[in-house]
Amino acid sequence: MNEDAERLLRRHGLQVTAQRLAVLRAVSTHAHATADELADDVRASIGSISRQAVYDTLGTLVARGLARRIQPAGSPARYEDRVGDNHHHLVCRACGAMVDVDCAVGEAPCLAAAGDHGFEIDEAEVIYWGYCPGCRNREADPNRTDKNRTDKNRTDKNRKG
Ligand SMILES: [Zn+2]
Ligand SMILES: [Zn+2]
Repeated sequence: MNEDAERLLRRHGLQVTAQRLAVLRAVSTHAHATADELADDVRASIGSISRQAVYDTLGTLVARGLARRIQPAGSPARYEDRVGDNHHHLVCRACGAMVDVDCAVGEAPCLAAAGDHGFEIDEAEVIYWGYCPGCRNREADPNRTDKNRTDKNRTDKNRKG
């Protein structure tokens, strides 16, 4: 694993440093972690490193295509080492859990825009928002207040039909 990470860095034209190895390893063991979570992990493996250094290294890995940065609305950026397959993400509105979901088409851009306005479109970034199984179970709890909202939506849908 160590050797793979070294080879990966070299193949992308990056000098191998303990810092880059530790950050890359943290990204591949914790998919969709935030920079702060990764910094904790890196600190645990190589000792003291500034938060800024972790941010900078993550930026380099993303720029060189070794890591991917996902930025869901209202959440800090998350990082992963699953790159180049144009997969998408499911994000839980309640707890922020993030899960990979394969691209429906397989290659970018997987959605045709209604109009391209003269742009050359090469990617569609898709985030599916909803509630994860854990949060759905909690929502089924009759004491939870926003259950009414779900019931109302259901009623509206029936009314339309
Ligand atoms: Zn959740
Ligand atoms: Zn992912």
